[in-house]
Amino acid sequence: MTAHTSFFENVINYVDRAAALTNHPKGLLDQIKHCNSVYHFEFPVRHPDGSIEVVKAWRVEHSHHKLPTKGGIRYAPEVNEDEVKALAALMTYKCAIVDVPFGGAKGAIQIDPRNYTLDQLERITRRYTHELAKKNFIGPGVDVPAPDYGTGEREMAWIADTYMAMNPGHLDAIGCVTGKPLSQGGIRGRKEATGRGCFYALREACAHAEDMKALGLSPGIAGKRIVVQGLGNVGYHAAKICREEGHAIIIAIAEREGAITNPNGLNETDVFQHRKETGSILNFPGATNIENSLDALELDCDALIPAALENQITADNAARIQAKIIVEGANGPTTPEAEEILLKKGVLIIPDIYANAGGVTVSYFEWLKNLSHVRVGRLGKRAEEANERRILQAVELLTGQKFTDDIFTKVAKGSDEQDFVNSGLEDTMVVAYQRLREIWKGDSRVPDLRTAAFLDAIEKVARAYAELGIFP
Ligand code: NAD
Repeated sequence: MTAHTSFFENVINYVDRAAALTNHPKGLLDQIKHCNSVYHFEFPVRHPDGSIEVVKAWRVEHSHHKLPTKGGIRYAPEVNEDEVKALAALMTYKCAIVDVPFGGAKGAIQIDPRNYTLDQLERITRRYTHELAKKNFIGPGVDVPAPDYGTGEREMAWIADTYMAMNPGHLDAIGCVTGKPLSQGGIRGRKEATGRGCFYALREACAHAEDMKALGLSPGIAGKRIVVQGLGNVGYHAAKICREEGHAIIIAIAEREGAITNPNGLNETDVFQHRKETGSILNFPGATNIENSLDALELDCDALIPAALENQITADNAARIQAKIIVEGANGPTTPEAEEILLKKGVLIIPDIYANAGGVTVSYFEWLKNLSHVRVGRLGKRAEEANERRILQAVELLTGQKFTDDIFTKVAKGSDEQDFVNSGLEDTMVVAYQRLREIWKGDSRVPDLRTAAFLDAIEKVARAYAELGIFP
């Protein structure tokens, strides 16, 4: 792997490295690596001054071994075809690792959304959806987009509305996209799912005393000093949940315009509000400014969560990274050259194809909700609550003690949609971490968690092809 390989080539190299540990035939491995369908198109956008700009857009379906395919849509000024192919491929492997029954896909429009009016963004998003629909690149059983860098619930609502208008009477049409607002068929917990998944990943890693000892850290996430890059969807929620539920300390947050640090801890919600009000993360009360945002990645900390973009940890800064654990919230934040340097230093890298899989996991739950047309927990919540009340009443009878109304309300409450989503996500992330760690620790040929993750994904996709009868 050289400094000149592209993002997609890097992904292929990772597959090759893991595939060398298997006996699969070359043809099957080629099928697992390459993109099945690449759709590139361009369309015009009218500016308020009357001028016309033609924008580039893509949708890449990496693997049709399971349908629908699934993956986010990115709005970014520098995005290109190689990047979309790489991200689509990562989606295939990610879905396999967390047992989500989809092939991988990714979409993009080459724009900086900050340069467009709300009205233009809506028209761009609706036009993009039209173009996908015309070529059968979207649909609840075909290809289901989701939010990614530069997009969110608002764009997903426009996509769903456009698709539904083009498919009147199609009962499952609302399942054509996930990450929608609640009122438009979304699911509770999707917005924070990727960040929450990063939290479970880090918590699991920290739970292994032996691995923590090797890093010179004490077991447990509580008290771990964390640096977060990117206060967007993934970074914000990862910071919030690590702090609130994990009792970790967020010692620095990096954004485009600079970074801030406070060894006593930052409250990401206050920082977010400060940035909204002042237009910058800098000059946050009680914190020290770091003018060059990238310098924050080199701070002395226990864990670093890059949650902005790819290629942030490179051969240039890897040697100066002091974090013992890196949780890849973003896709591809560490280049292969940087990884080599970090692994030599003994850093534990929790790879993107596992660490940020929480988003697609909860997208899967949202898709299931859309197809079943019922909110998770709607039928059982009261029944569960009644059972819990009966158990508390039995304890009262047996012990002769009376519980207060407060205890009844707290204990006998039944599970709602949010409880089920978090439970499903936690189980998915915990089980996957244990499996990846077993692969890593159980075979001396597997040098790190990323190789273990690719190995796991290759085996699962290969099995799916074998079961389809395509390969022996
Ligand atoms: P987002 O647009 O919500 O947030 C990205 C944030 O990064 C923004 O606040 C932006 O200002 C900041 N940023 C941009 N350049 C930066 C820089 N040079 N330094 C510091 N901060 C910078 O995007 P997101 O949805 O949070 O996605 C972030 C990453 O996570 C992407 O790599 C994406 O592919 C990946 N990801 C997202 C999801 C999801 O569910 N949204 C799921 C899996 C992976």
